[in-house]
Amino acid sequence: SALLDVRDLRVQVGERTILHSVSLQAEPGSLSVLMGANGSGKSTLGMALAGHPHYRVLGGQALLEGQDLLALPAHERARAGLFVSLQAPPDIPGVKNNLFLRTALNAVRAARGEEPLDAFDFIASAKAAARDLSLPEALLGRPVNEGFSGGERKRNELLQLALLRPRVALLDEIDSGLDVDGVRAVVALIGRLRAQGTAILVVSHYLHMIEQLAPDAVLRLDQGCIAETGGLELARGIARTGFARAAEPALEA
Ligand code: ADP
Ligand code: MG
Ligand code: MG
Repeated sequence: SALLDVRDLRVQVGERTILHSVSLQAEPGSLSVLMGANGSGKSTLGMALAGHPHYRVLGGQALLEGQDLLALPAHERARAGLFVSLQAPPDIPGVKNNLFLRTALNAVRAARGEEPLDAFDFIASAKAAARDLSLPEALLGRPVNEGFSGGERKRNELLQLALLRPRVALLDEIDSGLDVDGVRAVVALIGRLRAQGTAILVVSHYLHMIEQLAPDAVLRLDQGCIAETGGLELARGIARTGFARAAEPALEA
C-alpha cells in the first residue's frame, strides 16, 4: 500500500464541515501539487493531518506506512515521519529557534533509532542548512519566527524540513512571500528530499514554481472534495482560466 493513504477524510472546523471527502495516496519520492480556490480546504487538510485540535475528524482514515495517524497526538504524528509546514507560521516567543530545532530533530531521530546530535554537531548541520536556504545564521539564535519577515518565516519552515527529513511533507503555500532565490532553494530542497524517498504534497497557486517542481500529479480541491486529478496540464488550465471556469466542463477543443 501507499506510504501515505488518505481515504474519504471528512473534517469539521467550528460548526462547519470543511472537508467532505478527501482521498489521496502518496508513494515514496512522489510529488503532488494541491490546488484549489481560497477557502476550498487546502490548509484544513494539512491542519487535520497534523492533528490540530480545532480540526475535528468526522470520518475517513489517514495511514502513514500503515500506521493510523488519526489515532495519534500531533507530536507522535511528527515522530512517525509527518511534516506539515504552515501557511502562516506563528511566533513562539521565549523559545530559541536553535533549541526548538534541536529538540524536534532529536525527537524524530530517536523515533528512527538514530543517535541524538550533540550541540556541536547540531549547530554545524543547522548552519549548513541555513546557508543552503540563505537564512541568516543570526536567526538561529532568536525566538522562533519572532520579528522574522514573511520570507524568513517561510525559509525557517524549510530549515525545519531540511533538518527533519520526514517521510511525508505537506508544504502549505511555501512559495508565497519568497523571492526568486527562495523559490529556487525550495525547488532544490524538494528535489533532494524526493531523492531520499520523502513523499511531498505542495499547496501552491504559482504555475511558475509548479512547472519547476515537475509534479507526478496535480489535484484540484473544490469545496472540500478532490474534484479533479491530472498532470501539469491541469495546473496550466487553472492558471489560464481560473478555478471558476475549471469547475465547469471544458468548452474549448
Ligand atoms: P484554503 O487553505 O483552501 O484557502 P482553508 O482550509 O484555510 O482554505 O479554509 C477552508 C474553509 O474553512 C474556509 O471557508 C474558512 O473560512 C473555513 N474555516 C477555517 N477555520 C474556520 C473556523 N475556525 N470556523 C469556521 N470556519 C473556518
Ligand atoms: Mg488560502
Ligand atoms: Mg490555505
